[in-house]
This record gives sequence, structure tokens and C-alpha cells, in this order.
Amino acid sequence: MIQGIGASAGVAIGKAFVLPNWEWDLPEQKIDVGDLAREFDRLYEGIRTSKVEIRQMKDELREVVGTDESYIFDAHLAILDDPVFMNEIQGIIQRQYKAAEVAVKEAIDHFVTMFDLLDDEYMKERALDIKDVGNRLLKHLLGAPEITLPIDTQPFILVAKELSPSQLAHLNPNHVLGIATLAGSTTSHSAIMARALGIPLVVGLESKLEEPIATGDFMIIDGETGIVHLDPPGEIVASYTELQRRQQEERQRLKTIVEVQSVTLDGKEMELAANISSMKELDVALQSGTHGVGLFRTEFLYMDRSRLPQEEEQFDVYKSVAEKLDGRPLIIRTLDIGGDKQLDYFELPEEENPFLGYRAIRICLDKTDLFKTQLRAILRASHYGTVKIMYPLISSVEEVRAANKLLAEAKAELQAEGKPFKSDIEVGIMIELPAAVVIADMLAAEVDFFSIGTNDLVQFTLAVDRMNDQISHLYEPYHPAVIRMLKLTVDAAKRRGIHVGVCGELAGDVRALPIWLALDVDELSMSANAILQVKERLLRLQRRDSLALFDNILECPTSGQIHAMLAGFQPGNAVSGD
Ligand code: PEP
Ligand code: MG
Repeated sequence: MIQGIGASAGVAIGKAFVLPNWEWDLPEQKIDVGDLAREFDRLYEGIRTSKVEIRQMKDELREVVGTDESYIFDAHLAILDDPVFMNEIQGIIQRQYKAAEVAVKEAIDHFVTMFDLLDDEYMKERALDIKDVGNRLLKHLLGAPEITLPIDTQPFILVAKELSPSQLAHLNPNHVLGIATLAGSTTSHSAIMARALGIPLVVGLESKLEEPIATGDFMIIDGETGIVHLDPPGEIVASYTELQRRQQEERQRLKTIVEVQSVTLDGKEMELAANISSMKELDVALQSGTHGVGLFRTEFLYMDRSRLPQEEEQFDVYKSVAEKLDGRPLIIRTLDIGGDKQLDYFELPEEENPFLGYRAIRICLDKTDLFKTQLRAILRASHYGTVKIMYPLISSVEEVRAANKLLAEAKAELQAEGKPFKSDIEVGIMIELPAAVVIADMLAAEVDFFSIGTNDLVQFTLAVDRMNDQISHLYEPYHPAVIRMLKLTVDAAKRRGIHVGVCGELAGDVRALPIWLALDVDELSMSANAILQVKERLLRLQRRDSLALFDNILECPTSGQIHAMLAGFQPGNAVSGD
């Protein structure tokens, strides 16, 4: 048995697939005109070799699983003959004087992004095919060793050193039973996404493994406890199979409250919304009866590609999310890049402290064209639903005003162009820095709503890097300082009469629910996967009991006491567990 860190609940039982690192070392310099013919020759040779290899794999697969599955490779072969794909690559070589491998990479990024943005499962599958084929071609052009995701139909447990949010975004949840990573933390964006997609995840196995896990190893992971078993005996397999069965039953049971109104026994309504970063997560959210989207993390639109998304592309995505929500609120957060979210094509300077550095709203107020492109796209989408704008990482009133000034400019431009948008679109900010908490009363006068980002608020209040697993025990959302921060923020919002929500991971932690009820927050926005569990608890609570409990929590000098108090809290029996 190996003890890792549970990062997304659920049990997975199956064979491991170990993902080697896809890292392409692409040449930076342009080619000379005289080298064009050579680059084309290299490209065609790469295509020929890739085709031979694909045909071979097709034959092998046909022998193992029959003809039905081997058709996947016909699709791959067709891509290598596709004139649109090939023209894109040839065009980049010929017009931009780029080496064949660079052209292939840019063409893959271009088509993958385009297909991914379409709300169509079939096209999304095609994006994966293009990526697979493109990577095969790149492998030949660069002479790199073989790396592919398994193409058989057996779902697997993915084992990786680390999984970036963009890699996770491209995984097909139907093929991945669970994920185990050597590095990683529970509050990383990959972990957040795994929870949203309901994929069990265990992280932090690096120092725990005596031998590396190999592809084909039979394993069990428990994303709740962080326990991993390699090649376990029959009785362990049986007990986890039973646990898995109970969890599935529990999920079925929760489905019965999808349509039930989110209200406590004594009538306090709570909007339960979802945090999303992709269409996949939106689907999970809608199936859970979400009130809306309380946080759309737009940075994923900017990741895993070779250039910034244009206004039109962004507009298409925001519009289709708004339309899918069919009138339910959609809070679109403007670009929150930096920290653990990097863009390959956007040269961010090397920084000593990237989490305290050039990031999020700071970049947007500096690169105003980039920001305005996004604001225009959001504004245009506001015509198709209940869209709201939210700025991240706000630390001052000046930042809000500067952002709003650019928003006013974007509105004026659209007006002049005759493009429709909601002129009184609501604008809010994330409260995720201690500075914002301390001046929350002043900020409340500037905006329509607050959303508390507890992930960063805990990080910055306690000076504990949310990505650093060495100090993860110090990352304590129930620290008395954090509790006071929450109270200061909500009180300021209430005094001003603005809407206040919570969108950090703490919003989806059922233990925290009495705190939110006592504070009287309006909305909890969480991983889509957590909505029904939180609702189930909400339906059994009374705000009245929570008020008494919270008074006691505010008196607790240690997080240990706060934990004990929340754990001992029984509805109808407010002050226990001390
Ligand atoms: C937060 O900081 O709590 C938050 C919701 O934003 P992110 O996790 O994307 O930084
Ligand atoms: Mg944040």
C-alpha cells in the first residue's frame, strides 16, 4: 500500500498507463528561402513514415480486438491525406519560413483549438485524433521516441509525473478511470478540474514509490484517502470493488434531488452554482441542476495553443455557454493567467515569485489590447444570456476603475459598430487578496457583486504557496484568520447590499456549509461534481443553528478547534464538539 494525497474522490481499479512527457524541442530560428524544398521533403518523408507506422498498428490492433476498433486508424490516415490540414502546414512553411516541425505543431494547435471550441462531441474526438496524428508526425520529424496514449478500448488509470490543466482538458473521461501523479497538490488547477469531471485523482506519489509504476501494472487508487495499491491481492480488490459499488449507488441516490430547490429547513435560499473551465464541465453542471455558472475560468481558452484567441473565437465560446445556460447566470472571469497557469506563446518574464508577480488583472491592465479583445467578446455574448463580468486578483479601487474604464471603451466601440450587448452588464470582483478584504467596504461601492476566491485568499493570508506539497499541511482554510477575513468581506457586501458568493474550493466543502449559512452568503459556486452533495446537506440544515455555531467558531483561537466544532455540529444541536 502506498499513501499518496487524495485530490479527487472516487475509486479506480484497472491497469496503469504511464504517460511519458510530451515535450517538443522546436527550432526557434526561421529557415532560408533556399531551404524550403528541403523542409517540404522532410515533411513528406515524415508523413510517409507515419502512414507506414499507423497501418502497422492498425493490423496489430485488428488481431487483438477485431475490426471495429481498428477503424480509429483509418481516421488517422485520412488526416494525413486531408488537404485542409496539409495546406495549413505547407502554408506556414512557405509563407512564414518556419521549419516543418514548427509548422506541424502550429497547424495541430490551430485545428485542435478550433474543434475543441465547437460544442460537438464528434468534433472534439477529431481534435484528439489530429493531436495524436500530429504528435506522431512530430515524433518522426524530430527523431523522438514513441509516446502515445493507449488506443485500445480498455479504460486505464493514467499515471504521470504531473498533469497540466490543458492535458487534463483534452483527456476523454470515458477512457480514464482515474489518475495518479507523482507531483501535484490538491488545490492545483488540474486537481480542481479532475474533481469537476468526477475523475478519481491521487497526487504526491513521488517520494512514496519504491519502484516506478509501469504501463500495464494492475492498480487501485482511492482519491478520497490517497491510498494506492499496486498489484493487490484478491481480497483487497474485492473490498474496493464493493466500495466502488456503494459510491455509484450514492451518486444515483443524489440524482433524485437534482430538481429540488436549494433551501434550508428554515427557508434560507442558497444559489448553488458551478465553476467551469470547459464545455465538458458545463455538461456535468447542468446534469446536477446548477443555478448557473459562478466562475468561468477563461484562461483555459488561452492555453495549449500557439497564439492568443481572437475576439470571434472567444465570442463563440462565451455565447454557446450562455445559450446552454438558457437564462441562468454566467459569471465570466477575465483572464487570470500567471502563477501555475502559463501560456507557451506569451513570454512572461522569469520571476522570483510568480504568484506575487505579473499576472491576472495586472497583465490585463498592462496589455490593454488583449484585455479589450476579451471584454468585447464577453460583452457581445451578454446579448445571449445573463452574462456578468468578474475581475480576478483585485487589490485596489484604482484597479477596478482602470478595468471599468477599458470596459466603457469596449462598450463605446461596440455601440459605434452597431453590435448588440447588454449595456448595464453586472461587474464584480474576486475577493482573494487580504488587501481586498481590508478595503471590502470601499470596493463594494464600486461593483455589483463579490465572489470570494478562498483558494488564493488562504494562500495569501497564510503566506502558503497553494502548489507546494511540502507545506500543504499549513494550507488551512479553517484558520481563524481566514474565518475573520470571510466575515469582514461578507459583512461589507451586506452593508452595501451587493450580491456575495464564494467560488474557491471551500464553497464545495460540505463541512463549511454552516459558516456560509451563518454569514448569509447568496451563492456558493463549486466543482460541478460537488453540487448535489452540498445541496443534500443544505436541505437538512437550519440557518438558526448555524448562527449559534458560528458565534462559537469566531471565538476559537485554533483551526483544530474550528474543525472539531464543525465535525461535532448536529442540526438542531448547534453548540457541540468543543
Ligand atoms: C480562488 O482563488 O479561490 C479561485 C476561485 O480562483 P483560482 O482557483 O482560479 O485561482
Ligand atoms: Mg484565484
